Amino acid sequence: MVSGFRILPRSLLGGLLLAGLLALILACSADVSAQQRKLRVVTTVSMLADAARAIGGDRLDVSSLLGEGVDPHTYRPTRADIARLSAADLVIANGLHLEAQLNETLKLLGKTKTILFAAEKIPDGRLLADEEYPDRKDPHVWMDPELWKLVAVAIRDTLIERDAPGRAAYEKGAQVYTAELDRIHNYSRELLTAVPKESRVLVTAHDAFNYFGRAYDFEVEGIQGLSTESEAGLKRIESLVQLVAARKVNAVFVESSVPERNVRALVEGADARKHKLAIGGVLYSDALGAPGTYEGTVIGMLDHNVTTIARAFGVETPARGMQGKLNQ
Ligand SMILES: [Zn+2]
Repeated sequence: MVSGFRILPRSLLGGLLLAGLLALILACSADVSAQQRKLRVVTTVSMLADAARAIGGDRLDVSSLLGEGVDPHTYRPTRADIARLSAADLVIANGLHLEAQLNETLKLLGKTKTILFAAEKIPDGRLLADEEYPDRKDPHVWMDPELWKLVAVAIRDTLIERDAPGRAAYEKGAQVYTAELDRIHNYSRELLTAVPKESRVLVTAHDAFNYFGRAYDFEVEGIQGLSTESEAGLKRIESLVQLVAARKVNAVFVESSVPERNVRALVEGADARKHKLAIGGVLYSDALGAPGTYEGTVIGMLDHNVTTIARAFGVETPARGMQGKLNQ
C-alpha cells in the first residue's frame, strides 16, 4: 500500500523521519562505543594472560580461565568458563595439547570466533617432541624465553588483525616485553653456566622443563611423564634414585601445580640408599604465582625458577633475583 503513504498525516510523517534519524544516531553511537570498548581477551593459562596484558595494555580487558596453581593438563571447563569464552572477542590458548580437556570446547568455539593457539605458531623445528606421545610436541614453551618471544609475536599479530587502530601500541608493547624476555634469558644463562656440567641434572615432579633444559644445557628428569595424569611407577623412582646418586645431584624440586607426593617418594628412596637429596624449592611450572605479585608474571616466574635452581646448586645469586623483586 504505497499509495497509503500519501494520505498519512504530516505529523506522523515527521515522526517517522525523526524515528529514522534517531535510529541512525543510535547506530552511530553504538559503533563509537564498540570502538572505545576494550577488546575482551580470555586466555586459558595465566602465562598467556601476562603476555596479552604486557602487549595490549589499556586497549584490552584480559582474564585467564586457570588461576594460580591450577594444572592445565587435567582442567575441565565449567559452565561459567564456557560462558566467559563465548563472551570473549578473542580467545588465546597455548595449544599443543596443553589444555587437553578444553580441546573440544575450543574447537567448537573456533567455528564462531577467533581462537589463537599461540604456541602452535612456533615453527615445528624449534619444538621438542613429547616423550610420551611421539606424534605430539611438548607444550611447555614458556620455559624458554626465546620461544616465549615467538608466542608474544603471534599474540601481537593477532591483536593487530583484530584491532588495527592499536597497531602502534601493540608493536611497542611487544617490543618492551620481548626485551624483558631477553634480559631474563641472559640472567639465566649467566647464573646457570656456573653450575658444574656433570651435576646439571634437574629433577622435577613432571616433565615441564625440557625447553629450560635445552636452553641452559641441563639434563631434565621428570618423576611423572609430561602429563600429570599418569602415575609415577616405583621403577621410575628407583632408576631416578640411582641417577641422582651417580651424578651427585643433591636437590630435587617441587612444582606449584603438581602434588608433592612423588617428589617425597624420591627423597625417601635416596635416603634409603644413604644419598642425601634435599627439596631445592618450589618451582612454577604450569601456572604463575598469585595475581598482582612479581611471581604472578612470566618474567617473575622465570626469575624465581632460575634463581631457586641456581641457589640449590650452590651458585651465588642476587638475594631477590634479577631485579630485586622476588618475594623470597
Ligand atoms: Zn605440564
